[in-house]
Amino acid sequence: MTNPIFKRVLLKVSGEALMGNQGFGIDVAVADRIASDIAEVRAMGVEVGIVVGGGNIFRGVAVASKGGERVTGDHMGMLGTVINALALATSLRKMNVDTVVLSAIAMPEICQSFSQRATRSHMDAGKVVIFAGGTGNPFFTTDSAAALRAAEIGAEAIFKGTQVDGIYSADPKKDPDATRFEALTHRQVLERGLQVMDVAAVAVARENNIPIIVFSIHERGGFGQIMAGGGRKTIVTD
Ligand code: UDP
Repeated sequence: MTNPIFKRVLLKVSGEALMGNQGFGIDVAVADRIASDIAEVRAMGVEVGIVVGGGNIFRGVAVASKGGERVTGDHMGMLGTVINALALATSLRKMNVDTVVLSAIAMPEICQSFSQRATRSHMDAGKVVIFAGGTGNPFFTTDSAAALRAAEIGAEAIFKGTQVDGIYSADPKKDPDATRFEALTHRQVLERGLQVMDVAAVAVARENNIPIIVFSIHERGGFGQIMAGGGRKTIVTD
């Protein structure tokens, strides 16, 4: 078997990715497909932490834009990430991948609470750890949670699964001349305002020297191919 290029990584799966072609919620077949890619990487011996988004269920700004309280909206968004985390954990367990959900917001009847120590012991025991509840704070995003958890668990890279296979010079779905970057620096991403992860997330990754690998979450086997040293992606490093 090919040796993986990393031993421990943080995968960011957006809520939108779990939605598939539906306009809302979770497409279980899509969650199962993403889980099978994660199972493949876990079988390579890679320790995997996952941060899931919640945009397929709720975004706090939606409440704020209609005159509601942003903080309440963000609480609703964070709860959405818990629903997604439970769905992805279910898909992984169906594939016999030992998986635990740790939430930034305590809800002990539903899942365990996040701590760095708990994460470490679960990962040492070979479990995939799904981080739910984002950072646990309003006004943040799950991209920031991904960078934060990556730093906390000592991940060697953040894998940002997106709708396309890397960072492009323009939106490849709209501009036929858009080209994919092979490599960029964190600074270039920030200075050029490239839409990869939000600014706070890129800043945390940069400060902690964590590369960000942007790839298509919808490419079957793509996660494993990159882990084996190939695949289509853009690498953001310093
Ligand atoms: N959220 C939050 N704090 C966090 C992470 C998320 O308040 O640390 C809320 C916020 O309202 C956000 C929603 O949860 O809009 C869903 O997260 P996000 O938009 O990052 O999900 P994604 O775009 O990855 O699906």
